[in-house]
Parts: sequence; C-alpha cells; structure tokens
Amino acid sequence: MNVLIVLAHPEPQSFNGLLAGSAVEVLQSAGHRVQLDDLYREQFDPVEKASNYADRDEERPFAPLTEQRAHQP
Ligand SMILES: Cc1cc2nc3c(=O)[nH]c(=O)nc-3n(C[C@H](O)[C@H](O)[C@H](O)COP(=O)(O)OP(=O)(O)OC[C@H]3O[C@@H](n4cnc5c(N)ncnc54)[C@H](O)[C@@H]3O)c2cc1C
Repeated sequence: MNVLIVLAHPEPQSFNGLLAGSAVEVLQSAGHRVQLDDLYREQFDPVEKASNYADRDEERPFAPLTEQRAHQP
C-alpha cells in the first residue's frame, strides 16, 4: 500500500512528531511505501498571496486560480 502521512507540528520531539516517526517505521517494516510530508520542516506556507509568484504580471489583479494553473510543475 502507498501511505502518505502529513505532519503539521512545529516540534519534531512532540507526541505528534514521535507518532509520525513510529508510523513510518512500522508501516515500512510491514512492506508499505510511506511518504512523510513534514509541513513545518518544508516551511509550507498555507497563506495564498501574490508574492508567492515572483514572475507574475503585477499590472493585473491577483487571480489565485489563474496563477496556480500557470505555475503548475
Ligand atoms: C498546527 C496545529 C494545529 C492544531 N490544531 C488543533 C485543533 O484544531 N484542535 C485542537 O484541539 N488542537 C489542535 N492542536 C493542538 C494539538 O492537538 C496538540 O498539539 C496535541 O493534542 C498534543 O500533541 P503534541 O504532539 O503537541 O503533544 P505533546 O505536548 O508533545 O505531548 C502531550 C502529552 O503527551 C505526553 N506524551 C508524549 N509522548 C508520549 C508517549 N509516547 N506516550 C504517552 N504520553 C506521551 C506528553 O508527556 C504530554 O503530557 C494543533 C496543534 C498544531 C501544532
């Protein structure tokens, strides 16, 4: 099975951080493919804003969906 664990806690040594680490170990040792997304470590910023898009046309009003579509990988 493919497993995605999303961790959103600022302290790696917190109960949540340790639970996530344990889950990765147990699931991997049972043969599952595990991906851990640690949002704080990745410095994930949930606030959508124009400055997220350095190369946008600043003459136009900020349209989040348009910018997201234009910047898809
Ligand atoms: C981004 C974010 C969003 C949040 N949103 C919400 C929300 O919407 N609603 C809400 O109610 N709460 C929310 N919280 C609070 C979150 O639920 C608490 O942080 C969580 O309940 C406690 O987890 P912790 O990892 O911080 O615990 P810690 O403070 O690390 O530990 C909690 C307790 O568990 C004990 N403990 C640690 N490890 C073990 C272990 N192995 N066995 C037994 N006991 C142990 C500790 O000694 C401590 O007493 C949020 C927190 C964050 C970071």
